[in-house]
Amino acid sequence: MPETRRELILVGGGHSHVQVLRMLAMRPLPGFSVTVVLDRPVAVYSGMVPGLVAGQYAPHEVEIDVRPLARRAGCRVVMARAVAVDPMGRRVHLEGRPPLPYDLCSLNVGATVAGLDLPGVRQHALPTRPIARFVRQLSASIDRLRPLDRPARVAVVGAGAAGVEVAFCLQQRLAVALARPPQVLLLGPAPARCRARGRAPSGPRRPRGRAGHPDAPG
Ligand SMILES: Cc1cc2nc3c(=O)[nH]c(=O)nc-3n(C[C@H](O)[C@H](O)[C@H](O)COP(=O)(O)OP(=O)(O)OC[C@H]3O[C@@H](n4cnc5c(N)ncnc54)[C@H](O)[C@@H]3O)c2cc1C
Repeated sequence: MPETRRELILVGGGHSHVQVLRMLAMRPLPGFSVTVVLDRPVAVYSGMVPGLVAGQYAPHEVEIDVRPLARRAGCRVVMARAVAVDPMGRRVHLEGRPPLPYDLCSLNVGATVAGLDLPGVRQHALPTRPIARFVRQLSASIDRLRPLDRPARVAVVGAGAAGVEVAFCLQQRLAVALARPPQVLLLGPAPARCRARGRAPSGPRRPRGRAGHPDAPG
């Protein structure tokens, strides 16, 4: 009797699924046909984005063409945006294509940033998500600061791991690109350590250390 193969669908070809594809290329999954659904063929590897912000990588160096990787992993590639998942009917609905039936479906279509609907954010801020758009727009945003005849003032909203990394990297990039140290403010809640000791929140924090400038005002 012919073996019935089960259908695994990977929706999205970013940070998570490139690792899955890499593993499948090394060790195929017996009994499964794997399909990758991509809305765009090229993924931006977010782990390298701080290096791009710092000016250490060009945009093409942080991009991965997912299609050859998928082929090496023996997976079928479907170029279409997933628009819905029907868990009862076990189908992924696609834009402009028939739905794909699945036995197992893995959705990793990236995160989004909170606060995009706050007043002024869409007009004036540069969200880090979608990350491919952030990468495309960063250089243009930096170019708009070039005519300034004073230190550029940049606020990074969100003081989690990515926000801290981006703040340090922007400080390094802007100091070189604008030929003068910028004022980079990192905006977030007071560190847990300060709250635990009952100290007052320190307010905006200026990144210091390796990427900071010793002569920047504290
Ligand atoms: C500056 C920065 C640095 C980071 N550094 C790290 C790090 O060092 N280590 C770490 O673990 N995490 C890091 N993160 C977090 C990390 O980016 C996310 O946790 C991770 O990207 C999520 O993986 P993902 O595969 O779901 O999404 P992504 O990597 O964002 O990929 C999503 C993919 O899905 C595609 N897609 C989107 N919608 C659809 C759709 N409807 N149909 C089909 N395809 C779709 C997109 O085009 C994209 O290719 C960082 C984040 C930022 C902002």
